[in-house]
Amino acid sequence: MRIPIRAVTPETESAEIIGWVHEVRDLGGLAFFLIRDRTGIIQVTIPKKKVPAEILDTVRSVSRESVVRVQGKVKAIEKAPGGREIVPEKLEIISIAESPLPLDVAEKVPAEMDTRIDSRFLDVRKPRVRAIFFIRSAVTCAATAFLSSRGCINIATPKIVAAATEGGTELFPIAYFEKEAFMNQSPQLYKQMMMAAGFEAVFDLGPIFRAEEHNTVRHLNEATSLDVEVSFADHNDVMELLEDLIVYVYDYVAMNCAEQLAELGVDLAVPAKPFPRIPYTEAIEIANRTIEEKLAFGDDLSPAGERAIGDVIGQHYFIVDWPTDIRPYYAMPYPERPEFCKAFDLMHPRMELSSGAQRIHDHDALVERIRAKGLSPESFEFYLKAFRYGMPPHAGWGLGIERLVMTMLGLANIREAVLFPRDRHRLTP
Ligand code: ATP
Ligand code: MN
Repeated sequence: MRIPIRAVTPETESAEIIGWVHEVRDLGGLAFFLIRDRTGIIQVTIPKKKVPAEILDTVRSVSRESVVRVQGKVKAIEKAPGGREIVPEKLEIISIAESPLPLDVAEKVPAEMDTRIDSRFLDVRKPRVRAIFFIRSAVTCAATAFLSSRGCINIATPKIVAAATEGGTELFPIAYFEKEAFMNQSPQLYKQMMMAAGFEAVFDLGPIFRAEEHNTVRHLNEATSLDVEVSFADHNDVMELLEDLIVYVYDYVAMNCAEQLAELGVDLAVPAKPFPRIPYTEAIEIANRTIEEKLAFGDDLSPAGERAIGDVIGQHYFIVDWPTDIRPYYAMPYPERPEFCKAFDLMHPRMELSSGAQRIHDHDALVERIRAKGLSPESFEFYLKAFRYGMPPHAGWGLGIERLVMTMLGLANIREAVLFPRDRHRLTP
């Protein structure tokens, strides 16, 4: 019976393993294979004079990245990976790999991002790349377990919709029978409707679609968002929830992914709570001390601005108290100074991770804000209706999973954090 490669120790007597041929070395009288599965790598040593003829035939015909089954005696040997090797009694090719390979899984020859994505299934065989997705899985599992423990209900919202969440041009239209339809930019309106449904606290982990035309290292056209909405909560309550979640997830990864972090050379520091809260006006001033293209009140933060503030703060932080005009219509203005609203962004020193706010829960105030943004309340009727029959006060946020993983692991490009990136130029694989 097959056992995982990791389970083969120097004390094991005999073992059967199945894996990919990571490397082949032929030294005349001796041949070595390295065999890899997701748990590790083991050396297979073939003393040519001492093994059956059919094993020699197999050794001659096998190619790198073929899947092979090896059964044999295990020997302790100091110089081999894991301090052991297998000398085969049986060696069988289960699935032969064509040569040459589109890319080198052993990473002796580096490959461009495009080449890597074109053969993503091979790229992900690299232990370093697999480690990223192992950690991404730990991140989403930890985040959803954390939210469940805080009483949030996991909901699924539609990804095909009739109206834009915020208007604007970042929408992908699709063919939907005889109707006009779009891929959803955000679960925003739907998670808010579930506040009117009395769910009180919800989360949705799913794709968001943004028709951003520009290729950047931190935007995808299909990204993953963890969206949260909580009733009877204000912006401060959900900022605390978000900061607790970030710390929980970092802690979880530090405790459960030590091997993967080591594979990636990441020394993970768990961020300290509370994260600094910096008012928007102050954030702009900090940025303007060093950046060339100065920001004016009412500007969104430029990437240079984000980096300048990140350099000064040096850890996760919130930007709070944004000008109402540059936030979506559903953000709640402060009653005593309505030009500012109860919106926030969670920032990593490198970039924005999340946006959130306390929302307007008063129907008429919401209609007024929709109009003020030049949008028509009629197209939001399905949403506005939920505000006319008892809508509790509520607040929430959306957190980009790829950006969370990217910043946690210090990845240079967001494409490293998604298996099959969708960008301006890529629709396959
Ligand atoms: P940015 O200004 O950085 O483009 P945004 O303010 O347009 O982001 P939001 O609408 O606030 O994004 O979405 C909430 C979160 O979802 C963002 O903070 C980010 O983490 C993630 N996100 C949004 N758009 C993208 C995208 N195109 N690619 C990857 N992640 C995204
Ligand atoms: Mn945002």
